[in-house]
Amino acid sequence: MIIPAAGLGTRMASAPSAKGKKPAIPKQFTELAGTPILFHTLRKFIASPAVTEIYIALRTNEITGLRLDKETFGSLTKRIQIVEGGEHRQHSVANAIAAISAAPDDIVLVHDAVRPFVTNEIIQDVINAAQKYGAAIAGVPAVDTVKQVERTSEGALITATLPREHVVMAQTPQGFRYDVLSQAFEAATADEFVGTDEASLVERSGHEVAVVMGSHRNIKITTPADLELAEFYLKS
Ligand code: C5P
Repeated sequence: MIIPAAGLGTRMASAPSAKGKKPAIPKQFTELAGTPILFHTLRKFIASPAVTEIYIALRTNEITGLRLDKETFGSLTKRIQIVEGGEHRQHSVANAIAAISAAPDDIVLVHDAVRPFVTNEIIQDVINAAQKYGAAIAGVPAVDTVKQVERTSEGALITATLPREHVVMAQTPQGFRYDVLSQAFEAATADEFVGTDEASLVERSGHEVAVVMGSHRNIKITTPADLELAEFYLKS
């Protein structure tokens, strides 16, 4: 499985940073109950019996500082490999795919470093659906009405309302047969297409992608408000 963890976390910029001058810590390294968010996430996949290997994409300057020691993770029973991240999430994932050696029908999961509340049940459901369909993601029904907009200098103007019953909010894990994922990435690279998740690359390759129920707690910690919510979830 792959954890892209090479983001800059610019949307976390209003989080307190030393003297207000240094750039904010990337969100995957922001601490939750004294432990970096990435480590909380990593523990979930280390504990998941179906996961055999973990590839983490990191920024070069953060690779040396990462300590995957016994004190933090217990005795490590899985191979954890570090790869260099890229400019966009997609490039970080592509670097990890390039480092993997897998059989065509092996399942490769991709999970955001900043979604520490994933459960083993969700991980297993995505794997099962990916085995059945070749590609599957976790998602939740939209609770808000979703509008399509044109951006304007002052904000946005609505161009359409997307029927809510036809909308799901995509989460991770996203799971794929290795051959499906690697072919979709090759096609995206050839077309210079950059997507915000792996499923979008597989969709455009014409392959169907199934959705299994994620969780409204499986949040992507992106803003300071998400961090407050995450602290609450961790306590409760
Ligand atoms: O920025 P975004 O919300 O898409 O980030 C989702 C995940 O992708 C995060 O875990 C982030 O660290 C990772 N990412 C990455 N390489 C980038 C940008 C984001 O690994 N260049």
